[in-house]
Amino acid sequence: MDIQKIRNDFPILSREVYGKPLVYFDNGATTQKPRCVVDAIVDEYYSVNANVHRGVHFLSQKATELHEASRERVREFINARSTNEIVFTRGTTESINLLAYSFGEAMMKPGDEVIISTMEHHSNIVPWQLLAERKGISIKIIPINDQGELLLDDYEKLFTAKTKLVSVVHVSNVLGTVNPINKIIAVAHQHGVPCLVDAAQSIPHMKVDVQEMDADFLVFSAHKVYGPTGVGVLYGKESWLDKLPPYQGGGEMIQHVSFEKTTFNELPFKFEAGTPDYIGTTGLAKALDYISNIGMDQIAAYEQDLTEYGLQRLKEIPGMRIFGEAPERGSVISFLVGNIHHFDMGTLLDRLGIAVRTGHHCAQPLMQRLGIEGTVRASFGIYNTKEEIDVLVNGIQRVSKMF
Ligand code: PLP
Repeated sequence: MDIQKIRNDFPILSREVYGKPLVYFDNGATTQKPRCVVDAIVDEYYSVNANVHRGVHFLSQKATELHEASRERVREFINARSTNEIVFTRGTTESINLLAYSFGEAMMKPGDEVIISTMEHHSNIVPWQLLAERKGISIKIIPINDQGELLLDDYEKLFTAKTKLVSVVHVSNVLGTVNPINKIIAVAHQHGVPCLVDAAQSIPHMKVDVQEMDADFLVFSAHKVYGPTGVGVLYGKESWLDKLPPYQGGGEMIQHVSFEKTTFNELPFKFEAGTPDYIGTTGLAKALDYISNIGMDQIAAYEQDLTEYGLQRLKEIPGMRIFGEAPERGSVISFLVGNIHHFDMGTLLDRLGIAVRTGHHCAQPLMQRLGIEGTVRASFGIYNTKEEIDVLVNGIQRVSKMF
């Protein structure tokens, strides 16, 4: 990988923050955008823009072609069987809410159970809690060990005749743990239960193949994979999506409307009420092209090397505590140093031009399990370098001396 060439594709990386070169280590929250993604968005607004679907005029047909080509691009990227299985949403959060609503309506009754894990993002906890209140279902939690790995034996014991869905994160946004997703899905299937995979933190970093995993549902956000904000994906096996009712009502998702009776559109449009973010989907497709051209295996290997270097360098710092020591881990490192509050560390690093995230990372139940309030989190992307990790390590050492 030619990192300098990649860095040149991201204009923001050459800016300064407080007079210091920007070191952007907040990729878990959102990634920066390459010029080709922003150009594709601008080009579409300037030369193609028109509302998609049903337009007889030239621009509408062109915009529709681009939008549907983006769906095909996503299908190919995650190796879904058909574009009928690719639903565009606003992001991971909306995808999970959609599923919790539609699956909950059609497939669950009071007393039924959904299994999630201790390391879920709030977006894979709260929608199930809302469903629990609405429908009287209950939520069961897969525990973790001190290394930050799911306890698979305990997982298997959670299944009962009432278990209707498993919903787990592929890669933890706090611990970096890469969960053994194929095994988790296989166990669910042995119990006749479908599985939803939160791939928000895996899609940007590794090859994700929904058929190889045998995932029933999988969700992610464009903005975490070098694409624009406001767009995401819900993948669902057609056999499942066919059985589920619409999430929202409005234009686009209908076949015929009368005041007496409305019939719904076919897949995937049944789940896409209203004007879709057709410009955003073009940006997402461009981002997927961009990382595919670099190569997902190359990206995974490069980031793994970077993370190992980061872990090794950070551990040299006195008082360093790393949260998440699973052997299979992604490019996220959460830590605390001595008694320094994560917020103080983050604020002082910022003054040195280093962008990290601090706090509970939308995973408060995990923080409770770890017995802490929050951490500092450095998360790497394709444009980060070992030199930047050295800047972070020097920065942490400087901050540590102040306390
Ligand atoms: N799931 C995980 C693992 C995440 O890391 C995030 C965002 O940080 C989300 C879900 C929510 O993503 P979004 O805010 O794009 O909907």
